[in-house]
Amino acid sequence: MKNRRSHTLHKGELLVQQYKHTPNELTQQIPNYINTNMPRQHAEFYAGLSYLPLAILDNKGRPWVSLLVAKSMNDASVGINVSDNNEMHVVSHMNPLDPFIRILKQTHLDVNDKRTLFAGVGVDFSNRRRNKLSGIITASIVNSAGKISLRLKSDEHLGNCPKYITIRSLAPCLRHAEVSLDQFESFTSQLPTSCKETINQSSSVFLATKHVPDDETSIDDQRDMGLNHRGGSPGFVRVFEDIEKEADGEEFISTYLVLPDYSGNRFYQSLGNIQADKQVGLIFPDFSNGNMLYVTGEAENLFDEEAEELMPRVSLLTRIRVTGAVFIQQGLNLRMVSNEQFSPYNPPVKYLRQELEQMGHLSEPNISSDQSLNAKLVSTQKLTDSVSTFTFQLSTFIDAPAPGGFGVFDFSGILNSGYSHMNEVNPQMVNEDYIRTWTLSNAPSFDIETKKFTPVNQVSVTVKRKIGGLISNFLHDDTTVHAQGADQAMELQFKGTGVGFSCFTDNPASLRPKVPSKMLWIAGGVGFTPFMSMWDGILNVTSAFPEGEESLSTDIVLLFSGRDDDLGLLRHFLSRVNSLPDSIGISIFAYQSIGIESSKAQDAYDLLIKEFPNSPLHIEQRRIQNSDFENIGNLMDREVFLCGPGALMKLAQESLSSLSGDQLKLHQESYFF
Ligand SMILES: Cc1cc2nc3c(=O)[nH]c(=O)nc-3n(C[C@H](O)[C@H](O)[C@H](O)COP(=O)(O)OP(=O)(O)OC[C@H]3O[C@@H](n4cnc5c(N)ncnc54)[C@H](O)[C@@H]3O)c2cc1C
Repeated sequence: MKNRRSHTLHKGELLVQQYKHTPNELTQQIPNYINTNMPRQHAEFYAGLSYLPLAILDNKGRPWVSLLVAKSMNDASVGINVSDNNEMHVVSHMNPLDPFIRILKQTHLDVNDKRTLFAGVGVDFSNRRRNKLSGIITASIVNSAGKISLRLKSDEHLGNCPKYITIRSLAPCLRHAEVSLDQFESFTSQLPTSCKETINQSSSVFLATKHVPDDETSIDDQRDMGLNHRGGSPGFVRVFEDIEKEADGEEFISTYLVLPDYSGNRFYQSLGNIQADKQVGLIFPDFSNGNMLYVTGEAENLFDEEAEELMPRVSLLTRIRVTGAVFIQQGLNLRMVSNEQFSPYNPPVKYLRQELEQMGHLSEPNISSDQSLNAKLVSTQKLTDSVSTFTFQLSTFIDAPAPGGFGVFDFSGILNSGYSHMNEVNPQMVNEDYIRTWTLSNAPSFDIETKKFTPVNQVSVTVKRKIGGLISNFLHDDTTVHAQGADQAMELQFKGTGVGFSCFTDNPASLRPKVPSKMLWIAGGVGFTPFMSMWDGILNVTSAFPEGEESLSTDIVLLFSGRDDDLGLLRHFLSRVNSLPDSIGISIFAYQSIGIESSKAQDAYDLLIKEFPNSPLHIEQRRIQNSDFENIGNLMDREVFLCGPGALMKLAQESLSSLSGDQLKLHQESYFF
């Protein structure tokens, strides 16, 4: 192999770097980070590995990745040897149907043949060390039982960070592999459920890319492959299917994989390659059972609005259309001999827009992103030790969402201190977007003329401190700022409002919005906030139309479940429950579970009883249970609204379903995901 120049960034890499604002100084320095000669440290690292992910191109130019096991319990010739001159000798036993081995068989290896390109990424899952290399395969021997011997010569070497790597210890083992899907040669765009399950459990994935210009006269150093590890919480790679049409009009299903981009070293080597060449390969090893899913496909990077459209709150992602796949059950001769420890850098799983819609979790603001609105903190009111209401003055009037709707706030202007590659103290900050959603816990007044809620320039949110949470605690702790005067008040960007959960629905005629005549409201803890605002809305409509045709009539049963001093939220509510007209009925059943803060819980209970002795309130100092749903009057006539933590949601859903046979109209929202 002739000696290459040091790495030259190609158009694809430069384009992604530009999109993502990689500083110029870094762009210029990148070739210096990529060593032509294998550093000694890397050589020792590779020699000590007992498995090595490697990627290669098939005779159609498609990348495929495999995980070569380089340790055997009964064959001493298996292993990785590294010699001077960037040469590596890898001997492994593989499944003869592994795509990697099939490519070696189909290819007559020739140094001038672009198919001999390879890329590898050494990962030691026990300690998160990772180094990348690429070059060419100079010789290979494959025997019929699947033993392979590869001679690799590498000319690009790069050390990588430990971010997003799951810690696990792996030991060699011998499994009896069985191929359950073989679409290596033939095109497939569909994956069976077993493959999707493998993708869904994966926290460690390998992505192979290539940069092979079509122009055959290109000099060697413009052609290479890349292989890297992609990690995250299980489920970080999302899958969706779409119906597409052949030229002759026949419909078929295409499967897409979606990989959100997590903050990295800003070189964008893999994404840059994809920008230049859409063919990619992936493996999804299931370390718990040894199953291996190999995928090849066509990838596209989506930026900004296009990314957001597919996956809300993500500004860069890669969408891969599956074109080939092989699924080998028990195909990996490694077994896990420890528990898995996920990386503290893993951001929460990001879901597809269509998934969020299905889960009722889509909290997209409906004010266009170019309309810039500021929100200034003007007052705070403490409701419990950990819950306060924060009121913000907006820089202009907006149409308020229906009561129960939410506002989206952007704290990046005051909290984002810029890019950091690693953050050992607070690893979650590395992918933090500083955007949070809260229900607007007050309702606007109601206009008799327009029969609509009036536009507002003030919004309130009622926020509970989340243990370890970034922004809820910042809001609570930083409220002193506002006390020092309007000049220093906290000011942030308001991104807009939206609504997914409300008892108000638009009336097609020029009448006021509709509200169901009978409702069951079920709230848990801070999940009470939409009900605060819906109740406000009902009172505001009632005061606009105290009587007559437009007056509102509804009957509500409210079940409130709270812990310790959460009853403070009810205090605020009960102060708005006096002298109701006959047309509005409400009965409140509160369940107070007591944790370690029993005295706080008792104080909140005593205060409530003392302050509202004549309210329509019944309190029990215990957890809510199945039987509490049995005594609800006219249950079958009620529309149900449910918002709270997962356990309460589950209990309510199960109880209501068994009582009503799934006949009830149920609306739900969850903040806890
Ligand atoms: C529609 C809706 C209404 C909500 N209303 C309330 C409310 O009235 N009161 C209340 O206390 N909490 C509410 N929440 C929860 C709230 O958004 C925050 O998750 C909570 O305040 C913790 O924030 P944190 O920064 O302290 O915690 P962190 O742990 O630092 O952040 C929470 C994590 O969740 C992610 N995240 C936060 N919001 C969203 C979102 N909308 N979509 C996707 N990911 C997200 C963040 O990126 C972050 O990683 C609501 C959430 C939703 C989706």
